[in-house]
Amino acid sequence: MDEVTGAQLIAESLKAQKVEYMFGIVGVPIIEVAMAAQAAGIKYVGMRNEQAACYAASAIGYLTGRPGACLVVSGPGLIHALGGMANANVNCWPVIVIGGSSDRNQETAGAFQEFPQVEACRLYSKFSARPSNLEVIPSVVEKAVRCSMYGRPGACYVDIAGDMVNAKVDRSKVREVSCCPPPPLSAADSSAIADALSVLTAAKRPLIIIGKGAAYAQAESGLREFVEMSGLPFLPTPMGKGVLPDDHPNCVAAARSRALLQADVILLIGARLNWILHFGLPPRFDPNVKIIQVDLCAEEMGNNVRPAVALLGDIGAVVAQLVQRLRNDGWKYRSNTEWWGALREKISANAKISKALAVQSQLPMNYYTVFHHISQLLPRDCIIVSEGANTMDIGRTMLNNYLPRHRLDAGTFGTMGVGLGFAIAAAALEKSSSGKGQRIVCVEGDSAFGFSGMEVETMCRYNLPVVIIVVNNNGIYSGVDPDTWKEMAKMGDLTSVAPPVTLLPEARYDQVMTAFGGRGFLVRTPEELRSALQLSLSDWEKPSLLNVLIDPSSDRKQQEFPWLTRSNL
Ligand code: ADP
Ligand code: MG
Repeated sequence: MDEVTGAQLIAESLKAQKVEYMFGIVGVPIIEVAMAAQAAGIKYVGMRNEQAACYAASAIGYLTGRPGACLVVSGPGLIHALGGMANANVNCWPVIVIGGSSDRNQETAGAFQEFPQVEACRLYSKFSARPSNLEVIPSVVEKAVRCSMYGRPGACYVDIAGDMVNAKVDRSKVREVSCCPPPPLSAADSSAIADALSVLTAAKRPLIIIGKGAAYAQAESGLREFVEMSGLPFLPTPMGKGVLPDDHPNCVAAARSRALLQADVILLIGARLNWILHFGLPPRFDPNVKIIQVDLCAEEMGNNVRPAVALLGDIGAVVAQLVQRLRNDGWKYRSNTEWWGALREKISANAKISKALAVQSQLPMNYYTVFHHISQLLPRDCIIVSEGANTMDIGRTMLNNYLPRHRLDAGTFGTMGVGLGFAIAAAALEKSSSGKGQRIVCVEGDSAFGFSGMEVETMCRYNLPVVIIVVNNNGIYSGVDPDTWKEMAKMGDLTSVAPPVTLLPEARYDQVMTAFGGRGFLVRTPEELRSALQLSLSDWEKPSLLNVLIDPSSDRKQQEFPWLTRSNL
């Protein structure tokens, strides 16, 4: 008799569904699942916190279109992973979470780490289930993988009772389930395509917005053709950056506020009109703006703004339809319109302001100086992971992306602490046989770094090609310098007097890296920054961390609007 365990069935089913990476933390009852995964040919990355493990698994889903798996123990292990599931689900990224749970015959008895896990995951996922016996494991895993990718992508949870992990069943009783193919693609209704073109060609001030849905859809080549054929200006969302290169002549990112405010027709491709796009409403948008919305999720159409035209379908397919139609009509938006003139003028004015801030030479450095030097040294094909408040916002405007899916950040959920998990996932892909020698550069605020800082050990353990740059302003939003901190400590108990935004001034995050054998640099000047970064990027032996001490009161340049659109209630 050929017997197989529950652990083997889980592992083999994942592998059969082409899940190639697993991130997790082992313990009772799922150690055997991780070992079986490796035996089945899945790469297993042991992490230090389940939240970061789940961030990593979800980044695999975004970068490859096929989910990664996150393996966690019962109770607290699963609870820790919920943050990662929520982040993936809100970002519309596929991920599979496998959670061990307490033995079935101890349910309701107060078993070790007992928790209603399947119910707990429902709010954070598209699908949450426990196979009722060993025989159905392949079907449930296939369904989870399929649900994570089909329709709007998201998180899926599969629970495995502890007693099922080592239980055995005759292999002949288990129904084999073949690999589910990539999602079937649908195109938009052809009359809607015609409507879209007539709205677009009648526009005075048209704009394309490219979101991370377009990046996920891998629609870059079609989109480039459409943009160049139509001559339209485009604006990437934060993770839409790089679908077309940031230095493309049609990119108007440096005139973002102006473009959003004055556009009369917007072709919205794989982005939601949520807080990131200020809901598509005044004061940030023209109240009469006509939206042509491209999305595969029908329920998304009309959120906050009723679209003039809804193009329901896969972005790649819909863009191909638009290109076809454009080719037939032979229409092109002229490059000498007033609108292009206004956008170009704004772009060069903004560039001047940033440049002036970047070349300021006083120490400690400000954000603009730091990003100016980093941007000069980063290779065009590097993957940029970014999080933090000012660090992420200013970095987004100053660090260019030239390739699709090469920027990972706090995303739709605004989650801090994602960076190291994302970088580990990107580096794991990079280390695989298909790696292209790309650098993974993690630009972190000091607060953001802290959430998952111990994952530095994971990076050192697997020797991952990651460069972490901590832009250290001693706090959340802002901090104080060491002398002020000492004065404060004299004024009383720090829990009463220290501003809640402060973190330890000049904390030695670089020593966190050296503690595990990586390379750490303490950086105070542009020269130190340049030499440390050059060395880290060129000599690829081990991970590095640059602890860049900046002026704790450095701030963002004056903005026309606050970054977060709040209600006036
Ligand atoms: P951003 O943060 O860049 O604004 P969002 O995550 O808000 O992007 O929006 C991405 C949108 O793209 C979601 O509404 C999602 O349903 C959609 N989407 C994802 N993949 C595809 C695809 N292949 N085709 C069409 N739409 C997609
Ligand atoms: Mg900070």
